[in-house]
Amino acid sequence: MAILEVTELNRSFGGIVALDGVTFTLERGTTNAIIGPNGAGKTTLFNCITGYHIPDGGTVEFDGEDITTVPDYKTARQGVRRTFQEVDVFDELTVAENISLASFESDPEELMELLDLIEIHDKEGSELTLFERKRVSLALASEGDLLLLDEVFSGLNPTEKPEMIDYIDALAERKTIMLIEHDIETAFNLADTVTVLAQGQVMHTGTPEEMLEDEQVREEYIGEM
Ligand code: ATP
Repeated sequence: MAILEVTELNRSFGGIVALDGVTFTLERGTTNAIIGPNGAGKTTLFNCITGYHIPDGGTVEFDGEDITTVPDYKTARQGVRRTFQEVDVFDELTVAENISLASFESDPEELMELLDLIEIHDKEGSELTLFERKRVSLALASEGDLLLLDEVFSGLNPTEKPEMIDYIDALAERKTIMLIEHDIETAFNLADTVTVLAQGQVMHTGTPEEMLEDEQVREEYIGEM
């Protein structure tokens, strides 16, 4: 069953059309990558799905319920969660405090364990590496059913990247994931389906294999892999 149905979504900022009739469906339990050039509308799409921005037209249905005009603090409670490109944790609070402050769960222990946060639970926000900060924000986002991950791999070093892939793989066993990713190889490794967004429009959707076989997609959006 579809967990998310986005239909004919439009959003402009002044004269700039960021989303132009975006339509797609996510099946429950799948991992989906969204790729496309800078300014394609990827972050705006996340903003409209979560209700941070209200679209000008079109609908967003989550679990069969219309959430198009539901604000983000409510969609988060309903189970639509995201990470941000800029990772935000409170510097003066420990990992455990950061998590318990923002957590909706009474016992976030399991997610902390999965993301190897137990061993750094008393480390302060200001002392965390980028990778650790990303794992804290991932733990918070992972309390939902649908996780929208915005460039979680950016800035990670070559040892951290495969570890992050393992974390996402583990989360993908329990959640539905949509990830914005500029590293095509990583995106294709993780994803069941790939959507190419350009100029606010869905240009292509398919499995990673289908994308790689499509010469036009390879030339225009993928390049060398
Ligand atoms: P990137 O890969 O660089 O993050 P993106 O695909 O996420 O890009 P968006 O950030 O969604 O693209 O931007 C799509 C278009 O909408 C861009 O032209 C951008 O300048 C514009 N835009 C997005 N948010 C706003 C805003 N709050 N105000 C004005 N213009 C905006």
